[in-house]
Amino acid sequence: MSDVPRLGRYRAVVCDVDGVLHVGGDPLPGAAAWIETVRASDAELLLVTNASWEREVTLARLAAAGIVVPGELVVTSGEAVVDELARLTIRRVAVMGAGSVTEALADSDIVVVAPGELLADPSRSALVLGVAADRRVALRWLGRLVEAGVPVLSTNRDMVYAGSAGPEVGTGTLIGELERLVPGLAVRACGKPFAPMARIVLSRLGGDGPILVVGDNPDVDVAFARRLGADSLLVLTGAADDAGESHPTFVVDDLERALEMMVGDP
Ligand SMILES: [Mg+2]
Repeated sequence: MSDVPRLGRYRAVVCDVDGVLHVGGDPLPGAAAWIETVRASDAELLLVTNASWEREVTLARLAAAGIVVPGELVVTSGEAVVDELARLTIRRVAVMGAGSVTEALADSDIVVVAPGELLADPSRSALVLGVAADRRVALRWLGRLVEAGVPVLSTNRDMVYAGSAGPEVGTGTLIGELERLVPGLAVRACGKPFAPMARIVLSRLGGDGPILVVGDNPDVDVAFARRLGADSLLVLTGAADDAGESHPTFVVDDLERALEMMVGDP
């Protein structure tokens, strides 16, 4: 670890939230100091979360963990979904269990409808699934929607996320099950590490220069760093106990250690 880059090397830090800054609103070691340090540095900070819930929920859990940030620093998976819906020229959408999407749609001209209305006119329509989707309700509609050619998107494909009582079942687990049950269903996920979230983050950051992605999930955050051409810092406070086969740029037990290595005396 002698070649750990200094924080000052980066023009931007793209930091995950759950499992990195807190778990279920419980603070993690060094997280508040890390955010303070990055905000005081020259690096731009974005908090990029795959969570399916609303920005206010993310901000409230951060605040519970002692981290108060302006809402505009948070990039949600809902924004990535809405960007992708716009790219696909979708006009009408049904949303199941994804408050971040419903919230982001409020600023768009895409209309939210019930799933049955999509069947009545499937052209330029889509269904979006999030972590709180009811699998029975989803199964009631998915077969017919897929048959009608309606695309299905999701906030993310995370198998697990870090909750206060340990790993919680993520959107990816639900989607994998639905894809096994519904013939022809292939869900397009929009959050990290997929292209829609990469487009949003790169357009928000602008400019050139090295980016550091901080996260707790090798399959999600380290993979996202790779898509961005960024360095990755994996913290072992959330979804994973080790890096597995993900090959992050570097790995730390927690953000306290990251601060020591990247900001403390070299
Ligand atoms: Mg996470």
